[in-house]
Amino acid sequence: MKELRVSAIEKGTVIDHIPAKSVMKVVKILDLENSENTVLIGANLDSKKLVKKGIIKVSNKFFKAHEINKISLVAPEASLTIIKNFDVKEKTIVKVPKQISGIVKCRNSKCITNHENIETVFNVDTDCESLKLKCKYCEKVMEKDEIEFS
Ligand SMILES: [Zn+2]
Repeated sequence: MKELRVSAIEKGTVIDHIPAKSVMKVVKILDLENSENTVLIGANLDSKKLVKKGIIKVSNKFFKAHEINKISLVAPEASLTIIKNFDVKEKTIVKVPKQISGIVKCRNSKCITNHENIETVFNVDTDCESLKLKCKYCEKVMEKDEIEFS
C-alpha cells in the first residue's frame, strides 16, 4: 500500500516520527493552534519505526532551541526536517538535553520556583525507560506524563 502523503511545503519544518498519541500534545506545546502559518497534521499513519506515528508540517517556521527541547520531552524519537524550496536542507533527530531551563513548571506547590521569580531548572534522566525530570531546587521528580509546560 502506498503511504498517504501529506502535501509538501515550500519551506518550513517537518516534525516526523511523533508517537501517535503525542501528536496533539506537540501541537499544544508549540501553540500551533494559534499559529498564522499553514499547519498540516497527519495522525495515526503507518510507520516502520513506531506502530503508528504522527507527522506535523509547519510552513515558514524554523523552531528555536527551547521549542525543540519541548518537542524532545514529548516525543524523544521525533525527527526534524528543514525544508527550503521544497528540498530537504537538514534532517536531525531531536536530542533530549541533560538539563532543561525555564520551559517546565515544577509540580511541587511549595517549590521556590512557584513563589519567587526564579527560572525552573530540571535535570533530565533518560536512563530509565521513560524520561524523568528532577527539580534542581526541591528535588521533586516528575514522570514524562506529569510534565506541565510553563
Ligand atoms: Zn521544584
